[in-house]
Amino acid sequence: MKKYSILFVLICFAAILSAQTNKKYVLVIHGGAGTILQSTMTPEKEKLYKQGLQNALNAGNTILKNGGTALNAVEAAIKVLEDDSLFNAGKGAVFTNEGKNELDASIMDGKTLKAGAVAGVTNIRNPITAARAVMDKSEHVMMSGKGAELFAAANGCTIVDPSYFFTTQRWNDLLDAKKEDSLKALHKDSTKALLRQPDNHDYKYGTVGAVALDMYGNLAAATSTGGMTDKRYGRIGDSPIIGAGTYADNNTCAVSCTGWGEYFIRLVMAKTISDKMEFAHENLKDAADDMIIKKLPALGGDGGLIAVDKDGNFTMSFDTDGMYRGYVKSNGETGIEIYK
Ligand code: ASP
Repeated sequence: MKKYSILFVLICFAAILSAQTNKKYVLVIHGGAGTILQSTMTPEKEKLYKQGLQNALNAGNTILKNGGTALNAVEAAIKVLEDDSLFNAGKGAVFTNEGKNELDASIMDGKTLKAGAVAGVTNIRNPITAARAVMDKSEHVMMSGKGAELFAAANGCTIVDPSYFFTTQRWNDLLDAKKEDSLKALHKDSTKALLRQPDNHDYKYGTVGAVALDMYGNLAAATSTGGMTDKRYGRIGDSPIIGAGTYADNNTCAVSCTGWGEYFIRLVMAKTISDKMEFAHENLKDAADDMIIKKLPALGGDGGLIAVDKDGNFTMSFDTDGMYRGYVKSNGETGIEIYK
């Protein structure tokens, strides 16, 4: 008799556990959108970008496969991209007008709607870990500049000398941007000199992002960036702003954006997609496409986003020539793409 009751308890336990885990998970990442043309890309460079994206997918997939959370998976994927100098986040961050690197990042948990962000930080190796610390270890959502740096150091984030972020490629990008600014000033078109605007041919947004659904049905989103080349006056873009560049809600979707940040802020991009699903009952793809393909260019902006919904449907929508992007699903389906 006792044997049967133990068996019964075990069966109940297994049933409860399997009801909580549907075993289905999805991870989607991006490494920025922009004028990314096959004609101007070398095969070697393309291989490096794809390898960088693959490394990030592997890091997140390992966590999700082993029953880890969406939150841990997006953080791990972003950390890999931050450490890769090809992407405009962490090590590969772009330069400000003053020749500095000021980094922004944010992360959001769709289960609790808790979020964390840092903006304008100059010495945190992985800003996404600092954003996570703000979420987990403080009462706040967003910290900036010196304060964020002190908080990150006190909470175990790796601090580096700002020179860690120097890369020749990004420095040359700044020199090109400044050359263009002086040309514009010469032609009295100085309004555009306030911020590097993506009107030159080779413009790329290299921000990185990750969204995930884990096997417990929880969603998470994270975004990290160096912002825009030649930015000034403490400019902050959409990436660290919850609701603009990043959003996650278990009832709807998780979103991470890349593009001309000012427009993403004005459109409250990530939260609007969630709202369109919740209140207008749109599906994820329609909601994202409406914002990225119609509303964003109508205002004069451009860029893209990745998003996954609570059922594991995902979309990678952009209105630029390309977007570094990739995904992996629990059924083994995976892909990495760059161009349209
Ligand atoms: N959205 C970022 C910003 O405006 C730039 C990017 O996506 O690369 O700061």
